Amino acid sequence: LLTRAMARRLPNILITGTPGTGKTTMSAMLAEKTQFRNVNVGDLVKQHSLHSGRDDEFDCFVLDEDKVVDEMDELMSSPDGGVIVDFHTCDFFPERWFDLVVVLRSDNTTLYDRLVGRGYSEKKVQENVECEIMQVVLEEAQSSYEPEIVQELSSVTIEDMESNVARVMAWAEHWITNNQH
Ligand code: ADP
Ligand code: MN
Repeated sequence: LLTRAMARRLPNILITGTPGTGKTTMSAMLAEKTQFRNVNVGDLVKQHSLHSGRDDEFDCFVLDEDKVVDEMDELMSSPDGGVIVDFHTCDFFPERWFDLVVVLRSDNTTLYDRLVGRGYSEKKVQENVECEIMQVVLEEAQSSYEPEIVQELSSVTIEDMESNVARVMAWAEHWITNNQH
């Protein structure tokens, strides 16, 4: 783990969580404050058609995971590091890409309101709220990465968002100090 980490100048950070938990908002805030590069995987998938069409039943793109990994690998393997990745699933990324995995969490009613506000169908709202209740993304992160690098953070209020950003920045500074040689 240490050998892998020391190969990068700056840490790579994954921000994951159920849709609506605040990944994109947090990634943007963090990127602005750290000058790290921000990669929204959903946008990348659309831009480069890294999918095999749309799933009408689930109203989403069918992700082509191999294409996503191929598209991102050069950037994620760079000795520069300093990339913030924003995506709602995390089990198909190579483990070696990340030094920190943040899992954002929200309560059901908060998430419900955010997803309705986003114009999601009732079905899609229900699915995502259920996914959050079942801790699907947290368990996926815990089974895909070393437990020491997985951080579950509550993202309900603006204060949560600010303290989460501050916390990750402090963690990144600590990481940089410990990985200088
Ligand atoms: P995601 O990228 O995980 O789908 P977004 O960052 O797009 O989530 O956030 C969804 C909505 O919820 C946005 O309107 C955002 O402003 C709001 N939001 C997210 N996190 C918080 C938070 N901690 N406090 C208040 N509002 C939040
Ligand atoms: Mn988003």
